[in-house]
Amino acid sequence: MRTLISQSQLEAGVRDLAAQLNQQYDGRPLTVLGVLTGSVVLLADLIRQLEMPLRVGVLQARSYRGEATSPGELVVNIDLMPAVEGCDVLLLDDIFDTGRTLDELVRRMHTCGAASVRSMVLLTKVGRCEVEYCPDYSAFDIPNEFVVGYGLDYDDHYRNLPFVAALDPDEIAAGAQ
Ligand code: 5GP
Ligand code: MG
Ligand code: MG
Repeated sequence: MRTLISQSQLEAGVRDLAAQLNQQYDGRPLTVLGVLTGSVVLLADLIRQLEMPLRVGVLQARSYRGEATSPGELVVNIDLMPAVEGCDVLLLDDIFDTGRTLDELVRRMHTCGAASVRSMVLLTKVGRCEVEYCPDYSAFDIPNEFVVGYGLDYDDHYRNLPFVAALDPDEIAAGAQ
């Protein structure tokens, strides 16, 4: 496992994301929706630095199952989500890879009647995008490697690491410890 983004770099990156949102929404109400499960650490750290009237909810999107390290069919569950009709929504995810997840979720939020929909991710994998859509905010660009930590998992392991690390192919083959 190789550290790509240290704990202090993550703290600075999240502080910067929060500052951008505080400036963008400038006291106007915002509904932040964390995409389960990878966004939970970012969600917890980010929302405590937001100054506008805030609603916080979650929805679920899954394209990786168990020990997979490449995406499969996207499954979305919005049952847990609060009503977003007429609301300014910010979708929050851990990583923008092919972009299929956020592209679909943004569409869903518009279908649900959101007044506006923006998106924020901690990480963007460079050169992987397969859609027209781009996230509005991203803290770090990373190379095309499978990463874990700060919410990101391999078969639900490693989400608790306070840094972001790349898992090497032999570690992936050996399975999560
Ligand atoms: P996309 O739909 O943009 O291809 O993928 C987004 C989702 O795939 C993320 O929310 C995340 O769950 C998962 N994902 C993509 N790349 C990685 C990675 O390197 N590590 C982990 N743990 N998950 C990833
Ligand atoms: Mg995800
Ligand atoms: Mg995952």
